[in-house]
Amino acid sequence: MKCLLFNALHYCVSLATTRHMLKELKRAQSYVGTNKATCGCCMKSTHGLPCAHELGQWNILNMAVRLNTIHPH
Ligand SMILES: [Zn+2]
Repeated sequence: MKCLLFNALHYCVSLATTRHMLKELKRAQSYVGTNKATCGCCMKSTHGLPCAHELGQWNILNMAVRLNTIHPH
């Protein structure tokens, strides 16, 4: 099954960035869901990447991650 979440990011982000976001997506799918308090938002503050609760929300809404939600460093 194709994941729509990362459709807009093809060829725009590094493999390391994709791996970080896949780990966060797995956290969202396993126990974080859309709960910000459970998430802790570490990925957002340390890497400037969408965190588990954001990915969980966008996944439920069937939205893709937008490139402007990723810090350009
Ligand atoms: Zn979060």
